[in-house]
Amino acid sequence: MAAAKKDYYEVLGVNRDASEEEIKKAFKKLAMKFHPDRNPDNPKAEESFKEAKEAYEILSDEQKRAAYDQYGHAGVDPSMGGGGGFGGFNSGNFSDAFGDIFGDIFGGARNQRSNVYRGADLRYNLEISLEDAAKGTETKIRIPVQTTCETCHGSGARPGTSPVTCTTCNGHGQVRMQQGFFSVQQTCPKCHGTGKMVKEPCPTCHGGGRVKQNKTLNVKIPAGVDEGDRIRLSGEGEAGVNGGPTGDLYVVVHLKEHPIFQREGANLHCEMPISFSTAALGGEIEVPTLDGAAKMKIPAETQTGSVFRLRGKGIKPLRSSEYGDLMVHVVVETPVRLTEKQKELLREFESSTQADAGKHSPKNKSWVDKARDFFS
Ligand SMILES: [Zn+2]
Ligand SMILES: [Zn+2]
Repeated sequence: MAAAKKDYYEVLGVNRDASEEEIKKAFKKLAMKFHPDRNPDNPKAEESFKEAKEAYEILSDEQKRAAYDQYGHAGVDPSMGGGGGFGGFNSGNFSDAFGDIFGDIFGGARNQRSNVYRGADLRYNLEISLEDAAKGTETKIRIPVQTTCETCHGSGARPGTSPVTCTTCNGHGQVRMQQGFFSVQQTCPKCHGTGKMVKEPCPTCHGGGRVKQNKTLNVKIPAGVDEGDRIRLSGEGEAGVNGGPTGDLYVVVHLKEHPIFQREGANLHCEMPISFSTAALGGEIEVPTLDGAAKMKIPAETQTGSVFRLRGKGIKPLRSSEYGDLMVHVVVETPVRLTEKQKELLREFESSTQADAGKHSPKNKSWVDKARDFFS
């Protein structure tokens, strides 16, 4: 039979001096192509898969590869019993080498030797005011987290008793399942991967070793944070399993809507109504800033929609050394609830400007010009 066997290098399609990496890659490609899950009821594919698997198993092992190179198939045939000066391979080693590769091909069947897991990371959405975001603050948050049970210190066993080794997986936390002709490792269904069984469960956590608790935490919000920024509180996430490290807590910042300011990175924007006489004559107005009111000059003949910049009245972002600006968007207001006297003044004003309308209404003038050009 051995004479009829294909050369392992030929099977994988690699050179005799192929590197470990090349061999692994070649096998992965074949395994993907011929894997029985992708080729149901295809004996030919199954045969090719078995061939590739066997070749990979020999060539990926330094010792076996050397023996194969020297003695050919006879050097690695288990029935030849120690041919080439090494023992026949056992299925345990084989599965280990294999589980590893399947772990990354199919993403399943993790070859997890340890039953220690890191706790989950948590996310907390925190809404803060624009003022707090700009100047920084400190706040308390309450979060429900899985913490290590204090009654049993995480073992899950009633105090005075201790957990025993799981009989299904012998404490490994993983069991090997035969699926078709290859085996995969799975988390032990009996102990859920912990490798231990609790005979008398802890009354507080019912054997889980962890309890849900509300935790109050102090969170320092650095000045300059913006919408979506994350503050990491190391080790404040969920407790790990079997003494594994605790996860982290991420506080995600959300900015509350502000009645006056809109933020755009380092800059702030606000709308500022001014009277039309101030707009026409110019003057000084008070504008709000995060540090209180500030004075701002309005030049004469200011139009609605004009934007004025107050330098340094914005926000200093988290990773910046400079303050942004405050952009004041001017809106010229139409006066309302006028007295007869005021209306009379306005009519007078209107007729005085009517004579040479173009001179006093730059926008209207250009509109009239455009219309004239259009119709002519
Ligand atoms: Zn407990
Ligand atoms: Zn188990």
